[in-house]
Amino acid sequence: MSPVLREAIILAAALEYEYIWIGSLCIIQDDQKDWENEAPKMGSVYGHAAVVFAAYGRNLGIEKIPSVEISDPTRSGNSPTIAREEIDHGVFFSVPENPDSWFGRGWCLQERFFAPRIVHFGGAGEELYFECNSGMECECGYISERDNCNLKARIATALLDIQPPIDYSFACNEMWKDYIDVCEDYTSRGLAFATDALPAVSSLMGFFAPYLGAYYAGLWEKYLIPSIGWEVLCTPMSKRTESYVAPSFPWASRTAPVIWDWIYGDINTIPTPETYHFAQVVDVSYIPTTNDTNGQIAMGHINLRVFITQMTIESTDGSECSGLEIGDDKRRGGVLCHIGHNPGSG
Ligand SMILES: [Zn+2]
Repeated sequence: MSPVLREAIILAAALEYEYIWIGSLCIIQDDQKDWENEAPKMGSVYGHAAVVFAAYGRNLGIEKIPSVEISDPTRSGNSPTIAREEIDHGVFFSVPENPDSWFGRGWCLQERFFAPRIVHFGGAGEELYFECNSGMECECGYISERDNCNLKARIATALLDIQPPIDYSFACNEMWKDYIDVCEDYTSRGLAFATDALPAVSSLMGFFAPYLGAYYAGLWEKYLIPSIGWEVLCTPMSKRTESYVAPSFPWASRTAPVIWDWIYGDINTIPTPETYHFAQVVDVSYIPTTNDTNGQIAMGHINLRVFITQMTIESTDGSECSGLEIGDDKRRGGVLCHIGHNPGSG
């Protein structure tokens, strides 16, 4: 058994917990059927845990790197001065730069979201961090986030807003914006298997279901048009997944972070199903591969009715534009686009 599992079991016993749930032991490894049964239950598993231990290294680091006694010329007598190396809190929480860390792993997002309490073990040279639904704090107090700092607290606020007589569409907008934040965070994390892209947030997506309508491979019925308005954060990193994960229109079809850059602060400006008029969904469907309708899919498609816009592309430096692709950033010269709306097309 690895040191991290052994230490987690010792710690659970020391805290007088009778049971411990460990993914790599409680889900039969290499058994596809068992994985399909267990993956959709992750939200429930973490949601019902008394406490979740999050480890960042090969062990929990219960055995700390000892502090050292230093000579302090300003002090005299028998009281010693004890020192330890300064901790870099920024490194501990760096998500996208470190896909192997707990914060960087895609599967751990919903773990964090559902767990009522988490003790983060930073390893032998780090502190402990405690996180619950109202905030997070480290041992030295440098990290001390309260109230609406985390997504869990924000969604709880959005839920309060959704009660009548408060404007329902406003609260749904808030909920959809929280969903966007979840997707941006999630796609910045790493996954060992690209095909886990939808299953690893299955429980989390289920949380939004009562407010955002039917779910289509990572997208929501009520905000389908704005939901497909994502773009990749870093083009060279972003590729279509090698194994089939999703059709091209959901964010899950890409291997790298996505963002909804056109959404700015004011959620009242977000197009809602009542206000968007530039496109209509004719039909949309997908086929799940398991009983989990939020999980892996076999195929999906969307039919949209949209305006057609005619464009003429012309180079500003007089060079030939034939074969030019929009977004061709290798091209040095500037490009002018003449956009003309053709009212006859649709
Ligand atoms: Zn600290």
